[in-house]
Amino acid sequence: MTTTPPAVELQDVSCVFQSGGQSVRAVDHVNLQIGEGEFFTLLGPSGSGKTTCLRMIGGFTLPTSGRITLKGNDVSHLPPYARPINTVFQDYALFPHMTVLENVAYGLMVKGVDKAQRTQRAQALLEMIRLPDVGARKPGQLSGGQRQRVALARALVNQPEVLLLDEPLGALDLKLREQMQAELKALQRSLGITFLFITHDQHEALSMSDRIGVFNLGKLEQVATPQDIYNRPATRFVAQFIGAANVLEGAAAERLIGEPCAMLRPEQIRLGDSTGARVSGVVRELFYFGSFVRFEVAASAAAELRLQVDMPTTALDVTPQRGDTVHLHWDAQAVHRLAC
Ligand code: ADP
Ligand code: MG
Repeated sequence: MTTTPPAVELQDVSCVFQSGGQSVRAVDHVNLQIGEGEFFTLLGPSGSGKTTCLRMIGGFTLPTSGRITLKGNDVSHLPPYARPINTVFQDYALFPHMTVLENVAYGLMVKGVDKAQRTQRAQALLEMIRLPDVGARKPGQLSGGQRQRVALARALVNQPEVLLLDEPLGALDLKLREQMQAELKALQRSLGITFLFITHDQHEALSMSDRIGVFNLGKLEQVATPQDIYNRPATRFVAQFIGAANVLEGAAAERLIGEPCAMLRPEQIRLGDSTGARVSGVVRELFYFGSFVRFEVAASAAAELRLQVDMPTTALDVTPQRGDTVHLHWDAQAVHRLAC
């Protein structure tokens, strides 16, 4: 095992908010280690505790209990500015009255760096984010994607060891978001700093991260690589939150797959002839997604079972229609046992 302490470590961290006479346990006994230079993503539905977790690491919210360490140093009670961390917030939080260059240079000004030096460094960052000519503009004169990049430059100006990013791409449209995903990933790789990224978007998490921590109701359900999260989810929640999943349980599951509860991804099921089919059923609905077609099949051998089947459009000779009987095949190893 590694001997260097993790870039970020949470030890039994909880955060309880008191609001309106009620207490909300936003983060519930979380343990987590993030390695140096890792692109780590917290993924979970809205309200699951992601932002609270990130704010505690950044120092904006104090944990109710537990310890937060950076490279082995306890920072649990240090203010944000005393931590080698910076944050890109969801709304970017750029100063509207300052120019873009002043926004980027702001962290250096606070540190007392002289004007010539901070201008030079801020300009270098604008070049890095490929916006060399917007320094004199106000944030209001930029597009959403440009504002996003400026927020990133501003957060990087003090060369933080850890960058926290709270749904930084949430406000962008799909095309731009995909472009920014690639840019962010490339930037993280070239800078080699630790990224703690938050998203509620499973595709974003799967495509960008070295590892993912899946949050649900303030708890970490699983911490693993994207491949393991997708193929070997630890819980039913993870199976169903990431991608589409057939979760089979009960008597029908026992009969079909010999397991009391298991997951089968829709793309692992193939349509074929009746010989050797695991189960046959009737197509109840079909949805065209462009690169694939999803069928909802009610298995005739087990009336309570409905399976989603994804077929690449290129593999379709004859598209079965609603009401057609189809025969479903899958490999035994496609079935992943779950503790339901
Ligand atoms: P996420 O970022 O995953 O959407 P949050 O960390 O923002 O989740 O919120 C987790 C839970 O904590 C939610 O139930 C939210 O309402 C509650 N919460 C967050 N901040 C506060 C606060 N300042 N006061 C009271 N409750 C809060
Ligand atoms: Mg949030």
